[in-house]
Amino acid sequence: MGPLESAQLQFDKAADCIGLDDNLRRALRAIKRELTVNFPVEMDDGTLQVFRGYRIHHNIIRGPAKGGLRYHPETDADEVRALAMLMTWKCALVGLPFGGAKGGVAVDPGKLSAGELENLTRRYATEIVPLIGPEMDIPAPDVGTNAQVMAWIMDTISMHRGYSVPAVVTGKPVAVGGSVGRGSATALGLLNCTKEHLAHAGLCGEGMSVAIQGAGNVGFSAARLFAAEEFKVVAVSDVHGGVYSSEGIDIAALERHMADSGMVPGLDGSEDISNSELLALDVDLLLPAALEGQINAGNAEAIRARLVVEGANGPVDFEGDRILRERGIPILPDILANSGGAIVSYFEWVQGLQQFFWDRERIVAELDRHIRQAYRRVSTLAEDDDCSLRDAAWAVAIGQVAEAARLRGIFP
Ligand code: NAD
Repeated sequence: MGPLESAQLQFDKAADCIGLDDNLRRALRAIKRELTVNFPVEMDDGTLQVFRGYRIHHNIIRGPAKGGLRYHPETDADEVRALAMLMTWKCALVGLPFGGAKGGVAVDPGKLSAGELENLTRRYATEIVPLIGPEMDIPAPDVGTNAQVMAWIMDTISMHRGYSVPAVVTGKPVAVGGSVGRGSATALGLLNCTKEHLAHAGLCGEGMSVAIQGAGNVGFSAARLFAAEEFKVVAVSDVHGGVYSSEGIDIAALERHMADSGMVPGLDGSEDISNSELLALDVDLLLPAALEGQINAGNAEAIRARLVVEGANGPVDFEGDRILRERGIPILPDILANSGGAIVSYFEWVQGLQQFFWDRERIVAELDRHIRQAYRRVSTLAEDDDCSLRDAAWAVAIGQVAEAARLRGIFP
């Protein structure tokens, strides 16, 4: 099942739950606008290569479109559409005045030199100029992109305008108008949401085992934050495979090992495992933080975790979700659990517009407030309606966007 089909099935299910009328259902299910660009980049050897990129807005009823930019060889239009739709619901769920967008370029950034990556980024940013800007659409990092890529986009757009436009992207370095705390915001949101859920269930995280798929911005930051608290991180993986230690992984040693070898497997004092073995570990918390569709009809029966916390967007597809629910394994859904990045991106955008910067204390406190409030709203609805946390989260989010759509009406 592709990510778009999975997102649309989930949308239909949530729309049924809230009794959304057919007109609004058609309007909210549709993708608002899409830009596909094929653009040349001069490579280090003097050749030109043509890359395909996308920037897609799912919905802009609640405000400017907001969403990440992905560099991955398998990125295609359907993946970007699905991720844009998830952003609409995520922003609405946590009360951000944004719509949903996503961008992508079909490229393996690991195969480009730093100069080629910069050329590709600046040319892609120029190609999508008609869609982006602080009032229109604000990109952020996602798989394969980072703060440096955001700095190049901010600079490119600023050069076109003739003055600095810090609020055109979020997730940029603090030195060029980024926000303190943005780098670890998604992981901190995951931690706070997990702790809120455990407290709500009357559980304590002390000594709970955690397996994390993905060791990038989200997964590695989560490993660091969970291990620094009461949890025991027993497994971590990346695209090359994973490592396992029942005693808990030394995260600082893993960071040094990754810096030396460029990959997770091969860490001294731990056992190498595959990604499918990691997903099937007998752990308290499973945190998929890599790509979508990792838990699906093919492996959902093998999952043994007591709780799945979605660090990635769409890591459990529609069928995987059904199977886990039938097996009684709860899921903290992506649009709630990993919304910390979007929340602090909102703070970064506000700071950029006002040219007034907050300290870390304020960022951390406001992030915590937003995510815990959203969790309580979702868990209350899930209990009242006897539905899953995912169904409740989508129902709340779709309800917010539907209300705004009704109030705005159709022009002309
Ligand atoms: P990243 O590029 O920093 O890291 C991705 C990690 O996943 C890498 O360690 C990579 O090796 C690993 N990976 C890739 N393919 C894999 C595979 N097939 N099996 C196992 N591991 C694999 O990306 P990121 O920013 O950490 O994003 C990860 C996920 O979190 C994505 O779904 C993204 O949409 C979502 N997300 C990101 C943010 C953010 O702020 N960056 C916010 C919310 C959600």
